[in-house]
Amino acid sequence: MGLLDIENLEVTFGAAGNRVRAVRGVSLSVTKGESYGIVGESGSGKSTILRAICGLAPISGGQVRLDGTPLRHPREPAFYRRIQMVFQDPYASLHPRHTVDRVLSEPLAIHGFSDAETRIEQALKDVGLGHGFRFRYPHQLSGGQRQRVAIARALILEPQVLLLDEPTSALDASIQAEVLNLLDRLRAERGLTFVLVSHDLAVVSHMCDRLLVMQHGMAVEELTRENLQSRAATQSYTRALLTASEGYLPQASKAS
Ligand code: ADP
Ligand code: MG
Repeated sequence: MGLLDIENLEVTFGAAGNRVRAVRGVSLSVTKGESYGIVGESGSGKSTILRAICGLAPISGGQVRLDGTPLRHPREPAFYRRIQMVFQDPYASLHPRHTVDRVLSEPLAIHGFSDAETRIEQALKDVGLGHGFRFRYPHQLSGGQRQRVAIARALILEPQVLLLDEPTSALDASIQAEVLNLLDRLRAERGLTFVLVSHDLAVVSHMCDRLLVMQHGMAVEELTRENLQSRAATQSYTRALLTASEGYLPQASKAS
């Protein structure tokens, strides 16, 4: 049993005649402290899996369990103390008329924290933004700074698990690496568990211990980082992804 288990998950959108089976019988198990990747082309069902975990997509079959306990619908407030999500587009996920201070205050107020002042200052420091950013609006921030605010918002409740949906896809390449390094450091410092979704195999192979390859809503295969480095994919779709990413992936050491 993992910390987060998904068993035969099915998510279907739309009414009869217009159905999209976005996720078809996907199973995965994420261990505490692990960084687990989900990779696949656009439309393969990656975001829907994360949304289903959070109770934001309709689950028509299968189960999601946290510490062995099936999640209830709707998710209880306690769930969001343990699992938080960071979305792809920090432009869309931050309210344009809310200051950083308000963005960070709201989850604390909802969950009844009394030490908001200390937590907000600490959260800004943790993501490499000082006090000077506290009363700014999103339009006064760069893309990377906005995503740092979104990460601070997700971490301010001290969750165990972060669900990261293409957290750097909307950012310039140079900023991508900075944000990925920040996430890596925060995970190590806090023993966080990550589920990281990306269409970019290079990002997932850099960040994750294990990864699931998705295509058309289905799991194609699960690989470890070592499998990836030794190019040990068994499925032709995965091998095609590997070939397309050649030059961006870490090489296997000569010894192995
Ligand atoms: P990915 O994140 O891998 O790009 P998604 O999970 O966003 O893929 O989408 C998987 C499929 O489900 C796509 O065909 C998409 O159009 C469809 N889909 C996603 N969300 C909805 C929705 N709210 N309503 C209808 N179809 C949806
Ligand atoms: Mg997506």
